[in-house]
Amino acid sequence: MTIRVLRPEVAARIAAGEVVERPASVVKELVENALDAGATRIAVEVAGGGLDSIRVSDDGCGIEPAELETAFARHATSKLDDGEDLSLIVTLGFRGEALPSIAAVAEVQAVSRPSHCQAAAYLRLSPGAPSQQGTKGAPVGTSVTVRHLFARQPARRKFLRSAASEASAVAAVVTHCALAHPEVRFSLVMDGRQSLATTGSGYLRDALSAVYGPEVAGAMLEVRPAARARLDEATTAKGAVSVAGMVSPPHISRAGRGYISLFVNRRCIQNRRLTYAVEEAYQGMLMVGRHPIAALDLRVPYEEVDVNVHPTKAEVRFRDESAVFGAIQRAVRQALLTASPVPGGDPGQPPGPAFALAGQPAMPPLWEHGLKLATRATAGIAGVIDAASPSTAAPAVEPPAATPAQTLPVLRVIGQFGGVYIVAEGPDGMYLIDQHAAHERVLYERFLQQRRQRSPPVQGLLEPVALELAPGHGALLAQEEEALREYGFDVEPFGDGAYVLRALPRSLAGGDLRQTVGGFLDLMQNEEGGDGRDRVAMSLACHGAVRAGKTLALDEMRELIQQLEESEAPQTCPHGRPTMIHMSADVLAREFGRR
Ligand code: ADP
Ligand code: MG
Repeated sequence: MTIRVLRPEVAARIAAGEVVERPASVVKELVENALDAGATRIAVEVAGGGLDSIRVSDDGCGIEPAELETAFARHATSKLDDGEDLSLIVTLGFRGEALPSIAAVAEVQAVSRPSHCQAAAYLRLSPGAPSQQGTKGAPVGTSVTVRHLFARQPARRKFLRSAASEASAVAAVVTHCALAHPEVRFSLVMDGRQSLATTGSGYLRDALSAVYGPEVAGAMLEVRPAARARLDEATTAKGAVSVAGMVSPPHISRAGRGYISLFVNRRCIQNRRLTYAVEEAYQGMLMVGRHPIAALDLRVPYEEVDVNVHPTKAEVRFRDESAVFGAIQRAVRQALLTASPVPGGDPGQPPGPAFALAGQPAMPPLWEHGLKLATRATAGIAGVIDAASPSTAAPAVEPPAATPAQTLPVLRVIGQFGGVYIVAEGPDGMYLIDQHAAHERVLYERFLQQRRQRSPPVQGLLEPVALELAPGHGALLAQEEEALREYGFDVEPFGDGAYVLRALPRSLAGGDLRQTVGGFLDLMQNEEGGDGRDRVAMSLACHGAVRAGKTLALDEMRELIQQLEESEAPQTCPHGRPTMIHMSADVLAREFGRR
């Protein structure tokens, strides 16, 4: 075989394949160009999932008429000087590849007018045909129209999914960009229908409202950029990462991970590990299979992150990813523990007055003034977070504010309903509390704490008890041996599926031990998710918690509510189900037609 240099058109098409994988990649590149151009309005229109046509228009700085053709030349960029330090890139684009790549696989028309020009210049490019140029009337800014994407690349077209799924990928890209840039007014029209319109007010909550609706937006919790973790603390004092944005409270969740939007210095990225960091922060608060909603911007010093890993720039590499992981997890956890609203009885109402949209003074733009909003923090929260995530580095959380979080108001017990719920009154209405779920929460936190302090109450047995366990239980014992030991179990295999039990957590002592331990292991087998230690605590809590159907004396209920008030996350049981429903005085008055 002779080695030949590829013809430029062929080389261009190969390179284009890396940047332009599907319609959504075209949209992403064009929107990023508009953002780099300083646009305050960006309109995206697509037809047929973007395969028929895509148009992105902006009101940004425009392209000089004399440079319009150059913009479509390979490696032509205005964003990087020769010899400039690649590690200090602040624009979204820098490779000068997007426009030529798009033009290699589609028909493109660019119309652009800088503010000092009276008219716009246009350029039409079609693969394999001569280009056309001219002037026409158009507003200041740039508009790029892309038609018949991959019409001449049948192989690539075959790899694409249906127009509907390409359309949803486009919507996801625009949504992420709109959340990363609440100060820009985004509009997305698909096949003639408006599917997203943000206000461009600069408030993240407004952008969330446009995407997820006012109820969800109203309930979202703020993640403060205060939780700073120093990168690579041990060796250098260089740089710091901070996390700002919003996350959903535990009672609002989704069935997929696609609602977690992560940005690095406001660049949309994909990173499974960091997505997992967000989820980890909800440990014990969300039901299995449920995922949070989040929009989080990581501010990382430019030299700590490499954005030039892949042509699509969606992947980035951190110098110290573990530090970033820890910073996200702690910041989200802190937001969840600091402001934990009680689920409202009326789904139409944002839960808790602190999170209401209506009648509240608008919050200052999050990205600029996030720090100023740092109003509440739990005393000693750093310790709690640290203990809950032993795998992460010691937190460099800023000193907590003086006022402790009032996660639950003081409640007065009125009575019991159906042997299942406790009825209580608070300063702002009525609360129905699930007695089993509430007790589970209290016990769960107690067991975790006793394990942390290495002081679990243990019942030693004078006479060891021989256990004959089901095969599944034996495997569970073997697998979680260490976690079980930390809570006070002393079990030893005796051969042939038999075990001797010498000690067990005191909460399980009494009665028929074989039956109790079997029942406990059943519970543990059913606990999905979480690590072994968490599952032991959840199972002990479930086993020990008062059952639904048990009549409680007023004093017992008062005691339970008081303990619940003192817990860290009183609003959910360890599985993430709500412990209580709140009916505000307003809602009740409305239901009774009093207003
Ligand atoms: P890059 O963004 O990496 O520089 P592109 O191929 O995406 O490369 O764009 C090439 C150049 O065209 C940009 O550097 C910029 O100068 C100009 N350009 C592209 N889109 C726009 C736009 N919407 N507004 C203003 N200038 C633009
Ligand atoms: Mg670009």
